[in-house]
Amino acid sequence: MKPFSRILIANRGEIALRIIRACRELGIETVAVYSEADRHASYLALADETVCIGPAPSLQSYLDIPKIISAAEITDVEAIHPGYGFLSENAQFAEICHSCHIQFIGPTVENIRQLGDKAAARELAMKLGVPCVPGSKDIVRDEDEALKIAREVGYPVLVKAVAGGGGRGMRVARNDASLISGFHQARAEAQASFKNPDVYIEKYIDKPRHVEIQILADSYGAIIHLGERDCSLQRRHQKLVEEAPSPAVDDELRRRMGDSAIALARGAEYRGAGTIEFLLDQDNNYYFIEMNTRIQVEHPVTEMVTGIDLLKEQILVAAGSPLRFLQEDIEIRGSSIECRINAENPADGFKPSPGTITKYIPPGGFGVRIDSHVHAGYTIPSHYDSLIGKLIVHRETREEAILTMKRALDEFVIEGIHTTIPFQREIFRHYHFVQGNIDTGFLEEYFLDG
Ligand code: ADP
Repeated sequence: MKPFSRILIANRGEIALRIIRACRELGIETVAVYSEADRHASYLALADETVCIGPAPSLQSYLDIPKIISAAEITDVEAIHPGYGFLSENAQFAEICHSCHIQFIGPTVENIRQLGDKAAARELAMKLGVPCVPGSKDIVRDEDEALKIAREVGYPVLVKAVAGGGGRGMRVARNDASLISGFHQARAEAQASFKNPDVYIEKYIDKPRHVEIQILADSYGAIIHLGERDCSLQRRHQKLVEEAPSPAVDDELRRRMGDSAIALARGAEYRGAGTIEFLLDQDNNYYFIEMNTRIQVEHPVTEMVTGIDLLKEQILVAAGSPLRFLQEDIEIRGSSIECRINAENPADGFKPSPGTITKYIPPGGFGVRIDSHVHAGYTIPSHYDSLIGKLIVHRETREEAILTMKRALDEFVIEGIHTTIPFQREIFRHYHFVQGNIDTGFLEEYFLDG
């Protein structure tokens, strides 16, 4: 079945290429938009049509709604895929797409509005009986309210931005004084980053794992989950290595977390691909933290262990197809791990390292997948985030996956810029990581800079 004839990709880099690949296999034509900084990106040659949408800064190109809509209108597409980041969780953009009779490949406008507001999502989860981190019911408006809640749940607590993302607008507080300063800092950071100063408060869970459930929902009320991803390996609340399944999750816990994720999606009348993020404490209690209403960077590890192409399914359900799988069709096979390869210098505080790649030799062989748009001679622009690709392995067991990842990281040659590869080589040699014994504080604890 051919869902759309032609779609526009409102994104860049590896995810733009990932979407082009899915569309080519589905027989869908693609329109790739690009900023002047991405003029020479090689994936543009794989699109059926390309449109320049402006200068390098995102605000004047990939975040510029009128330009993207105009590009969609002149190229006569039926749908827009937003990828991740940029406009992917922008309800106003989704709304404008609909008013222009262009399908937004993602959930409904109401889904994005409700679930994109982290306090509102938390309220819904509580109402539906999905376990949430103890904390405020809603937005915390002033210092007195913050102090009252912190004393109720007990320190340490975390002040979080309702519009938060990428770990911004978050402050840990261990006593009244740090709560008051953290409250104001988080609000200021949230205002600067998201133009919304609202914050809420959660108990700070000690050494949790970050475990998230992938779901797929169609327009007819069918919802399935595709198991979990463990994204505990984070630097400053940013994921660096992800894996599926989680070494901490057994079949029973997977079923319970999956049921909670589906309950939330059902309660929100969700449609499309989505991810429900949980923290798992040391006693294996799980707590909902947020829902991401888009395809995620780390989706390939789920694809590898389930054998399901999430991009294709996401496009098909957006086009109105019923889900092609039942829950009992979903089987988790083997172990998959992903390293995010960032153009950053781990020896210099992970400073971004844009520039020209002078030599590029990617790894290959049994069990290795690379999702990347870069190559020798490619110049990484300085205007966007530093993810330049993802190295994914899939083997029968976690032990084998680690061995394959180690040799793949050793094979990987990228010269001319700094990357996170040397740091990831060290992680895969670390005893606790190899044992599967990690939590979100692992990097801070064992690696100097974290
Ligand atoms: P963002 O939307 O900014 O990514 P999240 O709510 O998804 O924020 O949280 C990002 C990370 O922050 C989590 O993966 C976890 O490491 C940490 N975190 C969030 N909430 C808590 C909490 N209540 N206790 C401990 N760590 C937390």
